[in-house]
Amino acid sequence: MRVARFTQGSDPRYALVDGDELVVIAGDPIYTPVTPTGERVRLDDDGVRLLAPVIPRSKVVAVARNYVAHAEEMQVEVPTRPLLFFKPNTSVVGPDDPVVVPQWSQRVEHEGELAVVIGKVTKDVSPEAAAAHVFGYTCANDVTARDVQRAEGQWARAKGFDTSCPLGPWIVPDLDVDDLEVTVRVNGEQRQHGRTSQMVFDVAYLVSYVSEAFTLLPGDVILTGTPAGTGPLEHRDVVEVEVEQIGTLRNPVLRR
Ligand code: ZN
Repeated sequence: MRVARFTQGSDPRYALVDGDELVVIAGDPIYTPVTPTGERVRLDDDGVRLLAPVIPRSKVVAVARNYVAHAEEMQVEVPTRPLLFFKPNTSVVGPDDPVVVPQWSQRVEHEGELAVVIGKVTKDVSPEAAAAHVFGYTCANDVTARDVQRAEGQWARAKGFDTSCPLGPWIVPDLDVDDLEVTVRVNGEQRQHGRTSQMVFDVAYLVSYVSEAFTLLPGDVILTGTPAGTGPLEHRDVVEVEVEQIGTLRNPVLRR
C-alpha cells in the first residue's frame, strides 16, 4: 500500500496509489481507517499534484551521524548514543517543490534518508514495541547549509530553514526497513549510496530512544540519518532521493 496526499487546486486529500491512478480515500489515514470514496484520479491529470504525504503534527526529529561512512567523510566521531536535532514542520515541502537555497549560505548539501512516520502517541516505548507505533515510511532529504552548520554550535538555522525537509512521494506502511537501499542522484548522477542495514542505530532503537526524550504525536517524523556521499546542491540542480520499495522523491533546487 502507498498512501499519498494530493491536491487538485483546493484542499488536500488522501489517496492510495494504484499504478498511475489515485484511489481517493475519506479523511486522513493516520487517524481514520482507510475507506475509499469510490473516486479515482489519474496521477498525470492536469492540475493533480502530490504534496508532502504528511505535515508533521509537532516536529521532525532527526538523527545525526547514523552511518559510519558518513561520519568518516565528515571527520567526526560516531556517537555512542544517537545525536538528535529538530527540523521545524515549516521546513517540510513535497515532491517537485523547490528547495530554495538561503542567501546566507554558500554551501547547501543533500542528505537522503529513510523517514519514519509515527502513527500513535508514543512515549517511553521499547524497541520491541516500536513498530506498532509506526504508521509507515517515506523518503526524506535532510537539506543542510553545511557552512552554517560548521560555523554555529546549534543547527537550527543550518538544518531548519524553509524548504530544508522535502518528504515523499508517499508513505508505505508495513514495510520491513532492516535492509533497504538508499540512493541520492543529482541531475541523474549518483551521489549517495548506502543500505539501512548500515545504520549504527536501527529504526526500532531510534523510535524507542527518541520517545524517552519526547512524546511523539501521530504524524511526527523521524529522519534516520544519511549514508556517505553528501555533496553540494546548486541553482537549477534536480535532486532525487530513492529508497528501495518506497519510491523516488524529486526536487528542483533554486537560488533566488
Ligand atoms: Zn541528516
